[in-house]
Amino acid sequence: MALRIGLMFLAVFLLLWTPATAQDLPPDQQLPPVASPTHRVDVNQLPVLDTTPAFNPDVATQQWLARLSPEARAKSDAYAEGGYMLQFVDLTYGLGVAALLLWLQISARIRDWAEELTRGRAWQVMLYAVVYIAAITVMTLPLSIYEGYVREHDFGLSNQTFLQWAGDFATMFAVTLAAAVIFLPLLYAAIRAARQAWWLWGAGLAILFMIFMLVIYPVAIAPLFNHYSPLPETPLKQQILSLARANGVPADTVWVADESRQSSRISANVSGFLGTTQISLNDNLLNQGTTDEVLAVVGHEMGHYVLGHTLRMVLLFGLVILAGFGFVALGCRHATDLFGGNWQVRQPDDVAGLPLIVALMSIFLFLAMPVTNSITRTTEREADLFGVNAVRKPDAFASVVLKLSSYRKLDPGPVEEAIFFDHPSGKNRIAMMMNWKAEHIRDLDIRDSVRDNPH
Ligand SMILES: [Zn+2]
Repeated sequence: MALRIGLMFLAVFLLLWTPATAQDLPPDQQLPPVASPTHRVDVNQLPVLDTTPAFNPDVATQQWLARLSPEARAKSDAYAEGGYMLQFVDLTYGLGVAALLLWLQISARIRDWAEELTRGRAWQVMLYAVVYIAAITVMTLPLSIYEGYVREHDFGLSNQTFLQWAGDFATMFAVTLAAAVIFLPLLYAAIRAARQAWWLWGAGLAILFMIFMLVIYPVAIAPLFNHYSPLPETPLKQQILSLARANGVPADTVWVADESRQSSRISANVSGFLGTTQISLNDNLLNQGTTDEVLAVVGHEMGHYVLGHTLRMVLLFGLVILAGFGFVALGCRHATDLFGGNWQVRQPDDVAGLPLIVALMSIFLFLAMPVTNSITRTTEREADLFGVNAVRKPDAFASVVLKLSSYRKLDPGPVEEAIFFDHPSGKNRIAMMMNWKAEHIRDLDIRDSVRDNPH
């Protein structure tokens, strides 16, 4: 009896006893000691199961690009390339209009008429400005109708009837007229006061005027074209407000614009300056985008806000404006020396020379396009990176980029991108997102997103 009980204990002991002790195992298989109140487990010593999914950012980028059908891609390429041509056409057409106004002495006659009506210099400039703006609007009308209405319909981007389009065009004309009537008398007063250094004063005034327009745009100009309403009370709004609080953006600054009345383009922007800054999404984005896509776009727009991009743009475009006025002043001096007699245009304080100033400035801005586009493109790139860091939805942003390709060429050449693109190309933006994803692939949220969506 005692022997059997002893054998049973031995059998149980043998069954429970594991022959391989911790010390016998190779070092990488050694188990940590079992936790006890007096012996804590060092988490860092626990074996790690590597669950990192395979992710190649280049392949993922190519997979995203392949989602756009060849037909859709050909269409957006054609739209973009037509746009490049139109910029050149606009310039030459505008120069042609200026040449007509000067060589046919129409500009000189408008000035003479204004001088007959009133002796006040500011009033003369205002009268001239009204006739000048009306004249160039009428002379460029065929081009405006083609670019703003016909072509947009050809590419299926416009939702407007001709009358609706004409209404917006007329509003824009009124805004331009009001801006010219305020700005030009000030400019010519500065030209008269400053003489040789007039371009410095002109640039200073133009910069102040740009700031003025930026400040009043969201409160006085944008509402002329669209209705702005606060984001409706939805779970999405709570997520956006949370994102805003997390990133130090005043929480009541997200608005929705009814831009579907103009087009089907999805869009969002930050507008305003010095107290009027606001973030607005358009209704197309809310209707066509998923929650993640909207958040990804909002993150980008918050990037502009948090990184102080408006101020940076004012400073950098201020330098461009300064250079532009220098170019215009030099060009004006030479051109009026040569042709002032034919045009009956006296030296720069003569308002009849305005078509020349406008022509020279448009040549300068055309030549400066790689600079101005690169300024905005690098700013947009920063906002993309801010957005993905804040929202952590690289795939949702890539998906939005693909949707934007209805009006933006997806994969231009590097020179084409440097000259014509005010945003990074779709391909570069998607590649940026996929590279971000590759660098965050061990983070739980990103790792899981790869499992859900192999891209
Ligand atoms: Zn942007």
